Amino acid sequence: MSKYLLFAFATFICLSLLSCGDNEMYYTVDDFAAVEKADVHIHIRTHRNSFVEQAIKDNFSLVNIVVDGAGTWEGVRNQFKYVKMQHENHPERFRMVTAVSVEDFHEPGWADRSIAWLDSCFDQGAVGVKFWKNIGMVLKDTNQQNVMLDDPRFDPVFKHIIQRDKMVVGHLGEPLNCWLPLEEMTTNNDRNYFEEHPQYHMYLHPELPSYQDQMDARNQRLDKNPELKFAGAHMASIEWNVDTLAAWFEQYPDATIDLAARMGQVFYQTQQDRERVRNFFQKYSNRIMYATDLGDNGSSEVENLQTNLHEVWLRDWTYFSTDQQMESDLVNGSFQGIQLTKEAVNNIFYNTARRVFGFGTQ
Ligand SMILES: [Zn+2]
Repeated sequence: MSKYLLFAFATFICLSLLSCGDNEMYYTVDDFAAVEKADVHIHIRTHRNSFVEQAIKDNFSLVNIVVDGAGTWEGVRNQFKYVKMQHENHPERFRMVTAVSVEDFHEPGWADRSIAWLDSCFDQGAVGVKFWKNIGMVLKDTNQQNVMLDDPRFDPVFKHIIQRDKMVVGHLGEPLNCWLPLEEMTTNNDRNYFEEHPQYHMYLHPELPSYQDQMDARNQRLDKNPELKFAGAHMASIEWNVDTLAAWFEQYPDATIDLAARMGQVFYQTQQDRERVRNFFQKYSNRIMYATDLGDNGSSEVENLQTNLHEVWLRDWTYFSTDQQMESDLVNGSFQGIQLTKEAVNNIFYNTARRVFGFGTQ
C-alpha cells in the first residue's frame, strides 16, 4: 500500500470513529416522543380515551390486561368488555390479554368453562391470558392448603392456550419484600403497601407458602409446558436481584419479563451496583419489556392522569437512555441513569414487545 493510500485509509478510519460518537450510540431525553415504544402492562377499565390519548402523544402502544382481581367471572367479563372497547377504538395501539376466574374452581367443569371463555376472547382478538397471584396466595383447596400454579387441574387450560398459539402473562407470588420485615424492605412503595395491608404481608404469615414455594410452582408449570410462551409480569417476581433473574432467563430461554411496577427495585439495585444492573439490561434487552401497571378506571381528573402517565414514562426513558443523576419517591437517595445503547433501549421499549404481543402485524 502506498503512503498516500495508507494516509487516506487512516483518515477514513478516524472520521468513521468520530462520526460514531455519543449521539449515535445513545438516545437523549429529547428523543423520547420520536421513538416507538410500548407499555405492555396496563389496566384500562373505562370507556373514556384519556389514557390512549396520552399514549399517542408519547408514542406508546399498549397491552391492556384483564385480571381476576375480584375473584369473579363477572369481574373478568366486565374488564374484558372495556379492553375490547378500547381495542376497537384504536386497534393498532392495543393488544388484549384476557383472564380466567377461579371463582368456581372447585365445581365440576371449571376447565371446560374456562376454555370456552378463552376461545370466545381469542376469537375477538385476545393474544394472551393473565394468571394472577390469587393462584398460589389466595385460592384454597378443600383441605385448606393453597392451590399452586403447577396443580394438575390447570393442565387442560394451559394445554389449550398452547394449542391456540396464545401466550401467558404470569404474575405469581409477590416481591421478595413481602416476606421480609418492614424495616428490611428495599422500596418505599412496598413498605407503605404492606404496612397498610398486613393481611398480605407474608412475613406475618409463615404458615402460608414461602416466596420459594411460589417460584417453584411457577417454574414447575413452565417445566410441564416447555412450549408455553410465558412473560413473567413484575420481573417474574425476581425483582430483587438481577443475577438471580439472569439465571432464570438462562433456565427458561424463551421466557420474557415485564418491568411493571418494579422500577423502584431497579433503582434500588442501581444504587447498590450500577454497572451490574447496566450489564444485565444491556445483555438481556431482547427478553425484557417496559411496563408500568398504570391504569384508568374513569375516576381521576383527566389532566392528573395524563400528567402522571407522561411523568412516569419520561422518568423511565431518562433512566434507561441517559446517565443523568435522578431521584424518585420510590427509593431514598439518588441514583444514576444506566444509559443503555440505542439497540438495547429499542428492545426494552418496543422490539421485545413486538415479538411477544405482535405489534405492527395487522
Ligand atoms: Zn397489573
